[in-house]
Formats: sequence, C-alpha cells, structure tokens
Amino acid sequence: MARESKAPSERTRVKRVNQRAVYDRPGIDAILDAQPLCHVGYLRDGHPFVTPTFQWREGDTVYFHGSAASQALRAANGADVCLTVSCLDGFVLARSGFHHSVNYRSVMILGKAMPIEDPEIKNTLLNNFVEGLFPGRVETLRPNNDQEIKATTVLSLPISEASAKVRTGNPVDDDEDYELPIWAGVIPLHTTIGKPQDDGRVLDGVEVPDHVLNFGKNLF
Ligand SMILES: Cc1cc2nc3c(=O)[nH]c(=O)nc-3n(C[C@H](O)[C@H](O)[C@H](O)COP(=O)(O)OP(=O)(O)OC[C@H]3O[C@@H](n4cnc5c(N)ncnc54)[C@H](O)[C@@H]3O)c2cc1C
Repeated sequence: MARESKAPSERTRVKRVNQRAVYDRPGIDAILDAQPLCHVGYLRDGHPFVTPTFQWREGDTVYFHGSAASQALRAANGADVCLTVSCLDGFVLARSGFHHSVNYRSVMILGKAMPIEDPEIKNTLLNNFVEGLFPGRVETLRPNNDQEIKATTVLSLPISEASAKVRTGNPVDDDEDYELPIWAGVIPLHTTIGKPQDDGRVLDGVEVPDHVLNFGKNLF
C-alpha cells in the first residue's frame, strides 16, 4: 500500500548533494525491504557504537532483535538510536580520483528503540521476520518455546524521522577532463544467491522447500 510522503525533519534533511534525497515512504520502504542487513548506532557508557544486525519492516515500524544478554540491545533499549541500511550498487570510476563515487541506496532512521514486552507479540514478530525472508517456512518449523522468546529482545523503531539517499548513473567529471584518455564508467555490483547446501543431517525424503529454492527474489 502506498504510504504518505513525509517532509524531512531538520536533522534528516539531506544537505550534501541533496538532489539524491528521497523522503517518500515508498522510496524509503523499498530500500528497507531490499536489504535486511542494517547498522544500529547508539551510545554505550557514553561512547558511540555501531552494531551490524538484521532489520525487518512491518508497516510504519522497523524491528531488530537479538539476545537479551546483548550489550548492544541493552544499550539501545529505550534509547535514541540511528539505524542505517545501505545497498552498494556499483563503483563509479571518474577521470580524477576526486570524482570517484559509488552508486547506492541508503536509509537512515532516527528515533527511540522501544522494547516489545508481550511474549505473544514478540513471538509473532519473530515469526514474521523468518517468514519475511522465507515465506512459508514458519509453519514447517518447531515453534519457538517460552525460554527462547524470553531470551530474545525485540526492539521497535518507528519510521517517522527518516531519510533515504540514492545515487545512480555515471561519474560526473570536470568538463575539461572528458578530453583525457582515461577509462571512466561504472562497475555494477550485485549480490548473488548461491545454490542451497543442506547440512548433511537432513532426513531422507525431505525435499528442498520452495522457500529455499526461491529465496531472495525480491532482495538486494
Ligand atoms: C555505500 C555508501 C558509500 C558512501 N561513500 C561515501 C564516501 O566515501 N564519502 C562521502 O562523503 N560520502 C559517502 N557516502 C554518502 C554518505 O552516506 C553521506 O551522505 C555523505 O558523507 C554526506 O554526509 P553529511 O553528514 O555531510 O550529510 P548531510 O547531508 O549533512 O546529512 C543530513 C541528513 O541527511 C540524511 N542523510 C545523509 N546521508 C544519508 C545517506 N547516505 N542515506 C540516508 N540519509 C542520509 C541524514 O538524515 C542526515 O542526518 C556513501 C553512502 C553510501 C550508502
């Protein structure tokens, strides 16, 4: 469903090369949905840390999770965080080092990361995370048990103060540099999905499910 465009806040307004800014929700959501890998920045004991982890989006909220014992999740819990997602789409080679660049899609979300306390909601969210990556898998799995749900922290972050930035296309060189005999252009980058390999302990007769064979069609 199309979501409303949102004006950026003063801190999420892109200033540097602002023609690359994207603030509309479909544009932001498309990047979040394409790349589960994120980085969460937060303060721990007054020092900035940035922890790589996974995110998933449900409507207007992004979630991330981990061990309840995780120092990162304990520090981020109830705290102001900055969550970023980036997709690297290509290296951009110009006719001077200065104008080299990269093609990318990225999102930054600012806000307070709040814990999901209700175990049932937490379990549903965790299942949604698995299901989002591998549609149809959850019903094939042993359900999470109470201890596993208790041992997992799920934090939520509203997509209310967010920006995206997207660069596409060729290098932009100084006019006079186009006369130089230097190769310039783009080296595109793609994530490739390999052939699934079973762990050697799959029982006889268990086929590779479709959600494994079809993994990642809408990702990256
Ligand atoms: C894979 C990748 C590689 C990059 N490599 C470089 C590099 O080598 N050198 C470099 O200078 N820049 C690089 N960038 C761009 C970089 O992310 C910043 O946009 C840029 O450095 C400007 O930073 P700033 O703090 O001056 O931005 P400002 O424009 O001052 O930022 C203001 C606000 O705009 C928003 N914003 C800024 N950047 C982004 C972004 N990337 N995505 C979403 N929202 C954003 C944030 O809300 C921020 O608070 C790269 C980006 C990506 C995704």
